[in-house]
Amino acid sequence: MLPAMKLSEIQHMLEEWAPPGTAWKDDNVGLQVGSQNADIVNILLALDVTMDVAREAVQKKANLIITHHPLFFHPLRSLTSHSRAGEIALYLAEQKINLFAAHTNLDSAPGGVNFVLAELLGLKNISVLSPLPENLIKIAVFVPKEHLDRVAAAMHSAGGGTFTKYEECSFRTEGVGTFRGTHEANPFIGTKGILEIVPETKLEMLVPSWKLTDVVKAMRSAHPYEEAAFDIVPLKNRAMNVGLGAIGDLPAAMMHEAFLSMVKKKIESPVLRYSGKAHRIQRVAVCGGAGSELINDAMQNGAGAFITADVKYHTFQDAERDILLIDAGHFETEHHVIPAIEHRVKKFLQESKSSSKIYITKCNTNPVSYY
Ligand SMILES: [Zn+2]
Repeated sequence: MLPAMKLSEIQHMLEEWAPPGTAWKDDNVGLQVGSQNADIVNILLALDVTMDVAREAVQKKANLIITHHPLFFHPLRSLTSHSRAGEIALYLAEQKINLFAAHTNLDSAPGGVNFVLAELLGLKNISVLSPLPENLIKIAVFVPKEHLDRVAAAMHSAGGGTFTKYEECSFRTEGVGTFRGTHEANPFIGTKGILEIVPETKLEMLVPSWKLTDVVKAMRSAHPYEEAAFDIVPLKNRAMNVGLGAIGDLPAAMMHEAFLSMVKKKIESPVLRYSGKAHRIQRVAVCGGAGSELINDAMQNGAGAFITADVKYHTFQDAERDILLIDAGHFETEHHVIPAIEHRVKKFLQESKSSSKIYITKCNTNPVSYY
């Protein structure tokens, strides 16, 4: 019999897809209840954890629940059954069920909430609507020539030098380095106390901020010098393939009525709230959940329509002259990501030859009802 899969293995796979470093700074993503060392039996997926979902997990022998929304969003002052989150957390702990959440990091991930929504609407040429700002770092390291490939390979394998659709990107400049080791030093090249002049290559590559620690660690362990010389420079460039919202084009332009009808049907929303009117819609932006703050990004990128949720009255009013703004419901614009999570986890379980099963909840976790 195969050893059970550890929660940490599933967490690692999910965080490669949706790195926690891409989450909104005040978000609370990752393991909410339980232990990374837990042996996973079965897995249950839901947009939110509720008491019904927790009981369903017990029924299905699922000791890992993966959700989109975190259970704990505000710091706790006590853990009691008097609060919704407390009651659920206590029950999960009692039943030895682990809870993991991928929230705004899953919103920003390629293939996450917003790409799934854009694909559901049949959009083509899908790209990120609002790429994450200030998340790219340039690292430059000075390496003696014969060790260059080894250092570059270590940095690449830790996630350095990947940019949009390209991997192993770097720039190399030949130069000359100088150093004089003090009497406390143990120089790899030359003798302490004597000035050394060594041919070196300046190796530069881009690193997303959430990979920086890993890339520096890999570089240091592959570098031959006692003290590797390197620069870390934050860039103003945006990480183009990671960020909130998505934008794309309809295969053919649609008229106002036909577009609303298509959106309602594909998103399976019982009601659409909207303002504005666009006679001919081709370019469409989306942001699952509360995405009102991306309206300007949608307009600047030429979208004729923007689909999101939790839109306020005055936001509808401000936007109506410029764009067709649609509120299709928070749950309705997000839950389509659950089968995408299922697909990835299932594939991972199969590749790992795990016998764990994965289920999507049968509970209705949408807190909003329509009358
Ligand atoms: Zn949400």
